[in-house]
Amino acid sequence: MLTKRTFLSGLMSSAALATIPATAKAATPDATLITNVRVFDGKSDGLSGLTNVLVEGELIKEISPAADAAPDVPRIDGGGRTLMPGLIDNHVHLQWNQGPMEFMTARSDYVAALALRECEATLMRGFTGVRDTGGGILGIARAIDEGIYPGPRIQACNASIGMTAGHGDYRPRSVLPRAFGGPGITELEAKMITIIADGVDEVLAATREQFRQGAHFIKVFSGGAVSGLYDPLDINEYSPDELKAAVDEAKRWNTYAASHAYMDSSVRSAIDAGFACIEHCNLMTPDSMELAVEKGVWLSTQVGFFMTPIPEGFNEYQAARQKMARDGLDAMLRLAKEYGAKIALGTDFVGSSETKATQLNELTLRTPWFSNAEILRQATGDNGQLWQLAGPRSPYQKGPVGVIEPGAYADILLVNGDPIADLSVMGSAENFDVIMKGGKAYKNTIL
Ligand SMILES: [Zn+2]
Repeated sequence: MLTKRTFLSGLMSSAALATIPATAKAATPDATLITNVRVFDGKSDGLSGLTNVLVEGELIKEISPAADAAPDVPRIDGGGRTLMPGLIDNHVHLQWNQGPMEFMTARSDYVAALALRECEATLMRGFTGVRDTGGGILGIARAIDEGIYPGPRIQACNASIGMTAGHGDYRPRSVLPRAFGGPGITELEAKMITIIADGVDEVLAATREQFRQGAHFIKVFSGGAVSGLYDPLDINEYSPDELKAAVDEAKRWNTYAASHAYMDSSVRSAIDAGFACIEHCNLMTPDSMELAVEKGVWLSTQVGFFMTPIPEGFNEYQAARQKMARDGLDAMLRLAKEYGAKIALGTDFVGSSETKATQLNELTLRTPWFSNAEILRQATGDNGQLWQLAGPRSPYQKGPVGVIEPGAYADILLVNGDPIADLSVMGSAENFDVIMKGGKAYKNTIL
């Protein structure tokens, strides 16, 4: 029986839990002075003249040729290299590192082990921040933020919300539906890749559940998918009321909802429902592009995903949908540029770590559409602006990411070369002599 006393002690222990300090933080050097560098700040068209950058704690303190520090402060002589923000990939699935069948049947601890390895590999490719758009990664994100494992900063939505027969419904056709005694949870739900919710009430509950798990933003499948089992690309997933339920709940949590949509009609229904960011967008028309720009909606785009072979284990229907989406990409990116849309950059790779190892190609593959400076801004300052939409739900409250300016997080690459003049230097992490996140150098070949 719950007596007053046990109730009170329960309250006290939950209060105590809430104040337990996080596990020991990683040792961060108090300061580092990086001298003799030319800065790409994540916002400009070009590089600065030679200057110095003083890092104090996790943040950038000063950028000036006169910036100096006490003699005992560690120094890195940039030797004329380019200092730029660490890269951000705004569409990843850190948890998904196997073929679909292996992933769905693997133990969760094995899946987590592969994800940890992928987190370190991602950081060592120069990506100091990633936005995870589906997958149980929040525990790993916490461990990384606490300095227990190396990895990027992670903004995450936890599970994407999808409808029965929509993207994310990977139940075999042979099982009974949930409402008729079938399993209440799919393999993908167990791994928090997606959660299936039908009707306004369930969508609302699913949205709140993501916040219970610590999500920073919400993602909803509002259109057909390349990799779905049952949903053709052409359908609008969810009714306007269901979409709006998720969007409004995200707003009540002072953050935002992102939608997955390829077809124009799905993009349109997502914009109408108030989504602040649309993932993919490949088949948008000028009308919806105009509307997206008018409403300030972000387009979270991928190029490399459509230039690589369909992931192993995907069927001919999925391959056909990938081709359809790929065929729309060129026109969509031209439109987005012409209309001045807010363009975020991401990869959306799932499957093998070999595929994910091509992550840096996302920059160099964009040269048919964008200038080198535009691509570098997309991967840094622009992507960082999208992170600000998470407001108080973002775990990174001390400053902006994706820019080099006083007060920003000291997430920094020292690049051996001038990526504004020659973007190909961004194609290999071998050209990154220093990879720093939050003032801590995870790689430094200039010793
Ligand atoms: Zn995705």
